[in-house]
Amino acid sequence: MTVSLDDLPLRDDLRGQQPYGAPQAPLPVALNVNENTHPIPDEVADDIADSVALALRDVNRYPDREFTALREGFADYLGHGIQPEQVWAANGSNEVLQHILQAFAGPGRTAFGFAPTYSMYALLTRGVGATYVSGERGPAFSLSPESAAEQVAAARPDVVFLCAPNNPTGTPMENDVIEAVYEASEGIVIVDEAYREFAPRDAPSALQLLPGRPRLVVSRTMSKAFAFAGARVGYLAADPAVIDALRLVRLPYHLSALTQAAASAALRHADTMLGMVDEIVEQRDRISATLEALGYTVYPTWSNFVLFGGVEDTRATWQALYDRGVLIRDVGIPGHLRVTAGTEEETSAFLDALAAIGR
Ligand code: PMP
Repeated sequence: MTVSLDDLPLRDDLRGQQPYGAPQAPLPVALNVNENTHPIPDEVADDIADSVALALRDVNRYPDREFTALREGFADYLGHGIQPEQVWAANGSNEVLQHILQAFAGPGRTAFGFAPTYSMYALLTRGVGATYVSGERGPAFSLSPESAAEQVAAARPDVVFLCAPNNPTGTPMENDVIEAVYEASEGIVIVDEAYREFAPRDAPSALQLLPGRPRLVVSRTMSKAFAFAGARVGYLAADPAVIDALRLVRLPYHLSALTQAAASAALRHADTMLGMVDEIVEQRDRISATLEALGYTVYPTWSNFVLFGGVEDTRATWQALYDRGVLIRDVGIPGHLRVTAGTEEETSAFLDALAAIGR
Protein backbone atom coordinates (compact mmCIF):
# COMPACT_ATOMS: atom_id res chain seq x y z
CA MET A 1 0.00 0.00 0.00
CA THR A 2 1.35 3.42 -0.91
CA VAL A 3 1.12 5.95 1.87
CA SER A 4 0.16 9.52 0.96
CA LEU A 5 0.47 12.72 2.99
CA ASP A 6 -3.22 12.44 3.79
CA ASP A 7 -2.57 9.19 5.65
CA LEU A 8 -0.10 10.84 8.01
CA PRO A 9 -0.87 12.79 11.19
CA LEU A 10 0.39 15.96 9.44
CA ARG A 11 -0.29 19.39 11.00
CA ASP A 12 -3.68 20.61 9.74
CA ASP A 13 -2.19 23.92 8.59
CA LEU A 14 0.28 22.11 6.31
CA ARG A 15 -2.34 20.03 4.51
CA GLY A 16 -2.67 21.02 0.86
CA GLN A 17 0.53 23.16 0.92
CA GLN A 18 3.09 22.85 -1.88
CA PRO A 19 6.85 22.72 -1.18
CA TYR A 20 9.31 25.14 -2.82
CA GLY A 21 9.87 23.62 -6.23
CA ALA A 22 11.94 25.52 -8.78
CA PRO A 23 12.72 22.85 -11.41
CA GLN A 24 16.28 21.48 -11.20
CA ALA A 25 16.82 20.23 -14.75
CA PRO A 26 20.26 19.43 -16.14
CA LEU A 27 20.04 21.84 -19.10
CA PRO A 28 23.17 23.40 -20.63
CA VAL A 29 21.96 26.95 -19.89
CA ALA A 30 20.29 27.23 -16.46
CA LEU A 31 19.11 30.78 -15.82
CA ASN A 32 16.17 30.03 -13.55
CA VAL A 33 17.13 30.50 -9.90
CA ASN A 34 19.22 33.69 -9.95
CA GLU A 35 22.49 31.94 -9.26
CA ASN A 36 25.83 33.41 -10.19
CA THR A 37 26.70 31.21 -13.18
CA HIS A 38 30.42 32.09 -13.01
CA PRO A 39 32.44 29.47 -11.13
CA ILE A 40 34.68 30.87 -8.39
CA PRO A 41 38.26 31.59 -9.53
CA ASP A 42 40.80 28.76 -9.09
CA GLU A 43 43.11 30.62 -6.70
CA VAL A 44 40.17 31.35 -4.38
CA ALA A 45 38.89 27.78 -4.64
CA ASP A 46 42.38 26.53 -3.66
CA ASP A 47 42.50 28.76 -0.59
CA ILE A 48 38.98 27.72 0.45
CA ALA A 49 39.93 24.06 0.01
CA ASP A 50 43.01 24.57 2.24
CA SER A 51 40.88 26.20 4.93
CA VAL A 52 38.29 23.45 4.79
CA ALA A 53 41.04 20.81 4.94
CA LEU A 54 42.41 22.47 8.09
CA ALA A 55 38.95 22.59 9.68
CA LEU A 56 38.53 18.92 8.88
CA ARG A 57 41.37 18.11 11.30
CA ASP A 58 39.16 19.27 14.18
CA VAL A 59 35.88 17.95 12.88
CA ASN A 60 35.64 15.49 15.76
CA ARG A 61 34.78 18.54 17.91
CA TYR A 62 31.65 20.68 17.68
CA PRO A 63 32.25 23.95 15.81
CA ASP A 64 32.39 27.43 17.37
CA ARG A 65 28.71 27.91 18.23
CA GLU A 66 29.14 31.67 17.95
CA PHE A 67 31.00 31.49 14.59
CA THR A 68 33.16 34.33 15.90
CA ALA A 69 35.65 34.60 13.04
CA LEU A 70 32.90 34.51 10.43
CA ARG A 71 30.91 37.23 12.18
CA GLU A 72 34.02 39.41 12.24
CA GLY A 73 34.43 38.75 8.52
CA PHE A 74 30.86 39.79 7.74
CA ALA A 75 31.08 42.91 9.94
CA ASP A 76 34.22 43.90 8.06
CA TYR A 77 32.65 43.25 4.68
CA LEU A 78 29.44 45.16 5.47
CA GLY A 79 31.18 48.28 6.78
CA HIS A 80 28.78 51.05 7.89
CA GLY A 81 30.27 50.68 11.40
CA ILE A 82 28.56 47.29 11.85
CA GLN A 83 30.05 45.38 14.82
CA PRO A 84 30.42 41.56 15.03
CA GLU A 85 27.79 41.41 17.83
CA GLN A 86 25.28 42.83 15.34
CA VAL A 87 25.86 39.98 12.89
CA TRP A 88 24.11 36.63 12.56
CA ALA A 89 24.59 33.89 9.96
CA ALA A 90 22.97 30.61 8.99
CA ASN A 91 22.76 28.03 6.21
CA GLY A 92 21.54 30.38 3.49
CA SER A 93 19.52 33.52 4.06
CA ASN A 94 16.44 31.29 3.94
CA GLU A 95 17.52 29.91 7.32
CA VAL A 96 18.33 33.41 8.55
CA LEU A 97 14.76 34.45 7.68
CA GLN A 98 13.43 31.30 9.32
CA HIS A 99 15.27 32.14 12.55
CA ILE A 100 13.66 35.59 12.58
CA LEU A 101 10.22 34.09 12.05
CA GLN A 102 10.80 31.45 14.74
CA ALA A 103 11.71 34.20 17.20
CA PHE A 104 9.21 36.89 16.21
CA ALA A 105 6.31 35.16 14.41
CA GLY A 106 4.74 31.74 15.24
CA PRO A 107 1.17 30.61 15.95
CA GLY A 108 -1.28 33.51 16.34
CA ARG A 109 1.11 35.99 14.73
CA THR A 110 1.35 37.38 11.20
CA ALA A 111 4.04 38.20 8.67
CA PHE A 112 3.49 40.55 5.75
CA GLY A 113 4.98 41.07 2.29
CA PHE A 114 4.12 43.06 -0.85
CA ALA A 115 3.09 40.71 -3.69
CA PRO A 116 4.54 39.63 -5.99
CA THR A 117 7.62 38.95 -3.90
CA TYR A 118 9.97 36.11 -2.89
CA SER A 119 7.82 33.00 -2.61
CA MET A 120 9.68 31.63 0.42
CA TYR A 121 8.36 34.42 2.69
CA ALA A 122 4.90 32.82 2.72
CA LEU A 123 6.27 29.28 2.96
CA LEU A 124 8.63 30.07 5.83
CA THR A 125 5.84 31.93 7.64
CA ARG A 126 3.47 28.99 7.37
CA GLY A 127 6.26 26.67 8.42
CA VAL A 128 6.41 28.36 11.83
CA GLY A 129 2.62 28.22 12.16
CA ALA A 130 2.07 31.94 11.58
CA THR A 131 -0.27 33.60 9.07
CA TYR A 132 1.09 35.27 5.94
CA VAL A 133 -0.65 38.40 4.66
CA SER A 134 0.00 39.90 1.22
CA GLY A 135 -0.03 43.61 0.49
CA GLU A 136 -0.22 45.22 -2.95
CA ARG A 137 2.20 47.10 -5.18
CA GLY A 138 1.44 50.01 -7.50
CA PRO A 139 2.03 50.32 -11.26
CA ALA A 140 5.00 48.32 -12.60
CA PHE A 141 5.38 46.64 -9.18
CA SER A 142 6.42 49.93 -7.54
CA LEU A 143 5.87 50.71 -3.88
CA SER A 144 5.41 54.23 -2.55
CA PRO A 145 6.22 55.13 1.06
CA GLU A 146 2.62 56.29 1.61
CA SER A 147 0.98 53.14 0.27
CA ALA A 148 3.45 50.82 2.01
CA ALA A 149 3.01 52.57 5.37
CA GLU A 150 -0.77 52.63 5.06
CA GLN A 151 -0.99 48.92 4.30
CA VAL A 152 1.38 47.93 7.09
CA ALA A 153 -0.41 50.15 9.62
CA ALA A 154 -3.72 48.49 8.68
CA ALA A 155 -2.37 44.93 8.86
CA ARG A 156 -0.33 45.41 12.10
CA PRO A 157 1.97 42.47 11.28
CA ASP A 158 4.57 41.09 13.69
CA VAL A 159 7.10 40.77 10.86
CA VAL A 160 7.31 42.73 7.59
CA PHE A 161 9.36 41.53 4.61
CA LEU A 162 10.75 44.23 2.30
CA CYS A 163 12.67 42.70 -0.58
CA ALA A 164 15.20 45.26 -1.83
CA PRO A 165 15.53 44.88 -4.78
CA ASN A 166 12.44 42.76 -5.11
CA ASN A 167 12.45 39.19 -6.36
CA PRO A 168 10.92 38.26 -8.85
CA THR A 169 10.42 41.76 -10.31
CA GLY A 170 13.90 43.31 -9.79
CA THR A 171 12.25 46.52 -8.55
CA PRO A 172 14.63 48.82 -6.62
CA MET A 173 13.51 50.02 -3.19
CA GLU A 174 14.35 53.44 -1.82
CA ASN A 175 15.23 53.92 1.83
CA ASP A 176 12.23 56.23 2.32
CA VAL A 177 9.90 53.23 1.88
CA ILE A 178 11.82 51.37 4.58
CA GLU A 179 11.71 54.34 6.94
CA ALA A 180 7.97 54.79 6.37
CA VAL A 181 7.22 51.09 6.98
CA TYR A 182 9.36 51.10 10.13
CA GLU A 183 7.45 54.10 11.49
CA ALA A 184 4.10 52.53 10.59
CA SER A 185 4.78 49.21 12.32
CA GLU A 186 5.55 47.88 15.76
CA GLY A 187 6.99 44.61 14.48
CA ILE A 188 10.28 43.44 13.05
CA VAL A 189 11.03 44.94 9.63
CA ILE A 190 13.28 42.71 7.51
CA VAL A 191 14.95 44.26 4.51
CA ASP A 192 16.09 41.37 2.33
CA GLU A 193 19.12 42.62 0.40
CA ALA A 194 19.94 39.26 -1.22
CA TYR A 195 20.74 41.01 -4.52
CA ARG A 196 22.22 44.19 -3.07
CA GLU A 197 25.64 43.89 -4.77
CA PHE A 198 24.00 44.18 -8.21
CA ALA A 199 22.55 47.63 -7.44
CA PRO A 200 24.42 50.78 -8.50
CA ARG A 201 27.48 51.31 -6.25
CA ASP A 202 26.19 54.59 -4.81
CA ALA A 203 22.66 53.30 -4.14
CA PRO A 204 21.59 53.58 -0.50
CA SER A 205 21.46 50.43 1.66
CA ALA A 206 19.13 49.73 4.56
CA LEU A 207 22.32 49.25 6.61
CA GLN A 208 22.48 53.05 6.83
CA LEU A 209 19.15 53.03 8.67
CA LEU A 210 20.17 50.57 11.43
CA PRO A 211 21.33 53.10 14.08
CA GLY A 212 18.40 53.91 16.36
CA ARG A 213 16.08 51.31 14.77
CA PRO A 214 16.24 48.17 16.97
CA ARG A 215 13.40 46.44 15.08
CA LEU A 216 15.15 46.73 11.70
CA VAL A 217 16.95 43.70 10.26
CA VAL A 218 19.01 43.67 7.05
CA SER A 219 19.60 40.23 5.55
CA ARG A 220 22.10 39.30 2.87
CA THR A 221 23.42 36.15 1.23
CA MET A 222 26.64 34.78 -0.25
CA SER A 223 24.54 32.81 -2.78
CA LYS A 224 24.29 35.49 -5.46
CA ALA A 225 27.10 38.00 -5.89
CA PHE A 226 29.62 35.76 -4.06
CA ALA A 227 28.89 32.76 -6.30
CA PHE A 228 28.53 30.62 -3.18
CA ALA A 229 24.98 29.21 -3.48
CA GLY A 230 26.11 25.62 -2.98
CA ALA A 231 27.89 26.42 0.29
CA ARG A 232 24.63 27.75 1.87
CA VAL A 233 25.65 30.89 3.72
CA GLY A 234 23.36 33.81 4.55
CA TYR A 235 23.71 36.52 7.19
CA LEU A 236 22.11 39.59 8.67
CA ALA A 237 22.88 42.77 10.56
CA ALA A 238 20.66 44.11 13.34
CA ASP A 239 20.70 45.39 16.90
CA PRO A 240 22.60 43.01 19.26
CA ALA A 241 19.30 42.39 21.11
CA VAL A 242 17.84 40.88 17.91
CA ILE A 243 20.85 38.55 17.74
CA ASP A 244 20.11 37.48 21.34
CA ALA A 245 16.57 36.61 20.26
CA LEU A 246 17.85 34.46 17.39
CA ARG A 247 20.06 32.49 19.80
CA LEU A 248 16.84 31.27 21.45
CA VAL A 249 15.69 29.45 18.30
CA ARG A 250 18.80 28.34 16.43
CA LEU A 251 19.94 24.75 16.70
CA PRO A 252 23.18 24.43 18.65
CA TYR A 253 26.16 24.42 16.27
CA HIS A 254 23.91 25.13 13.28
CA LEU A 255 26.82 26.36 11.14
CA SER A 256 29.22 23.49 10.53
CA ALA A 257 32.96 23.98 11.00
CA LEU A 258 33.39 23.30 7.28
CA THR A 259 30.84 25.97 6.35
CA GLN A 260 32.44 28.48 8.70
CA ALA A 261 35.90 27.77 7.30
CA ALA A 262 34.73 27.99 3.69
CA ALA A 263 32.78 31.21 4.20
CA SER A 264 35.56 32.93 6.15
CA ALA A 265 38.05 32.00 3.43
CA ALA A 266 35.72 33.27 0.69
CA LEU A 267 35.27 36.57 2.55
CA ARG A 268 39.04 37.04 2.63
CA HIS A 269 38.81 37.12 -1.16
CA ALA A 270 35.72 39.32 -1.34
CA ASP A 271 37.17 41.53 -4.10
CA THR A 272 37.94 38.57 -6.37
CA MET A 273 34.70 36.81 -5.52
CA LEU A 274 32.77 39.95 -6.45
CA GLY A 275 34.83 40.47 -9.58
CA MET A 276 32.11 39.07 -11.80
CA VAL A 277 29.39 41.41 -10.54
CA ASP A 278 30.16 44.12 -13.11
CA GLU A 279 30.07 41.62 -15.94
CA ILE A 280 26.77 40.18 -14.72
CA VAL A 281 25.29 43.69 -14.50
CA GLU A 282 26.47 44.28 -18.08
CA GLN A 283 24.72 41.10 -19.25
CA ARG A 284 21.59 42.02 -17.27
CA ASP A 285 21.45 45.39 -19.01
CA ARG A 286 22.01 43.70 -22.38
CA ILE A 287 19.04 41.42 -21.67
CA SER A 288 16.85 44.41 -20.76
CA ALA A 289 17.84 46.36 -23.89
CA THR A 290 17.45 43.39 -26.24
CA LEU A 291 14.08 42.32 -24.82
CA GLU A 292 12.81 45.87 -25.12
CA ALA A 293 13.94 45.94 -28.76
CA LEU A 294 12.09 42.64 -29.29
CA GLY A 295 8.91 44.34 -28.06
CA TYR A 296 8.63 42.88 -24.55
CA THR A 297 7.79 44.95 -21.48
CA VAL A 298 10.91 45.20 -19.36
CA TYR A 299 10.95 46.34 -15.73
CA PRO A 300 13.70 48.32 -14.03
CA THR A 301 16.01 45.92 -12.18
CA TRP A 302 18.78 46.29 -9.61
CA SER A 303 19.33 42.55 -9.34
CA ASN A 304 21.00 39.83 -11.43
CA PHE A 305 17.77 38.99 -13.25
CA VAL A 306 15.16 40.57 -15.51
CA LEU A 307 11.38 40.19 -15.38
CA PHE A 308 9.73 40.71 -18.73
CA GLY A 309 6.08 40.92 -19.75
CA GLY A 310 4.16 40.85 -23.00
CA VAL A 311 4.65 37.08 -23.35
CA GLU A 312 1.56 35.77 -25.11
CA ASP A 313 1.78 32.18 -23.89
CA THR A 314 4.21 31.87 -20.97
CA ARG A 315 3.94 28.08 -20.83
CA ALA A 316 4.69 27.71 -24.56
CA THR A 317 7.60 30.18 -24.51
CA TRP A 318 9.08 28.55 -21.38
CA GLN A 319 8.80 25.11 -23.01
CA ALA A 320 10.25 26.28 -26.35
CA LEU A 321 13.28 27.71 -24.51
CA TYR A 322 13.56 24.48 -22.50
CA ASP A 323 13.55 22.47 -25.73
CA ARG A 324 16.47 24.64 -26.91
CA GLY A 325 18.41 23.86 -23.72
CA VAL A 326 17.64 27.11 -21.90
CA LEU A 327 15.97 27.00 -18.49
CA ILE A 328 14.30 30.20 -17.23
CA ARG A 329 11.51 30.76 -14.67
CA ASP A 330 7.77 31.09 -14.88
CA VAL A 331 7.13 32.92 -11.61
CA GLY A 332 3.36 32.75 -11.93
CA ILE A 333 2.74 36.34 -13.04
CA PRO A 334 0.44 36.07 -16.07
CA GLY A 335 2.20 37.09 -19.31
CA HIS A 336 5.60 37.34 -17.60
CA LEU A 337 8.80 35.32 -17.36
CA ARG A 338 12.02 35.86 -15.40
CA VAL A 339 15.56 35.22 -16.59
CA THR A 340 18.86 35.35 -14.70
CA ALA A 341 21.81 37.13 -16.31
CA GLY A 342 24.43 34.48 -17.11
CA THR A 343 27.86 34.59 -18.68
CA GLU A 344 28.06 36.38 -22.03
CA GLU A 345 27.67 33.02 -23.85
CA GLU A 346 24.72 31.87 -21.74
CA THR A 347 23.03 35.22 -22.11
CA SER A 348 23.51 35.09 -25.88
CA ALA A 349 22.09 31.55 -25.94
CA PHE A 350 18.96 32.78 -24.17
CA LEU A 351 18.54 35.91 -26.31
CA ASP A 352 19.13 34.01 -29.57
CA ALA A 353 16.69 31.27 -28.59
CA LEU A 354 14.02 33.77 -27.61
CA ALA A 355 14.46 35.74 -30.83
CA ALA A 356 14.18 32.50 -32.81
CA ILE A 357 10.98 31.48 -31.00
CA GLY A 358 9.39 34.87 -31.53
CA ARG A 359 6.70 36.46 -29.43
N1 PMP B 1 15.98 36.22 -0.53
C1 PMP B 1 15.71 36.36 -1.82
C2 PMP B 1 15.02 37.58 -2.28
C3 PMP B 1 16.07 35.36 -2.74
O1 PMP B 1 15.77 35.51 -4.03
C4 PMP B 1 16.74 34.21 -2.26
C5 PMP B 1 17.18 33.08 -3.18
N2 PMP B 1 16.51 32.91 -4.33
C6 PMP B 1 16.97 34.10 -0.91
C7 PMP B 1 16.60 35.14 -0.06
C8 PMP B 1 17.59 32.90 -0.28
O2 PMP B 1 18.85 32.63 -0.72
P1 PMP B 1 19.85 31.71 0.10
O3 PMP B 1 19.06 30.87 1.06
O4 PMP B 1 20.55 30.92 -0.94
O5 PMP B 1 20.75 32.66 0.82
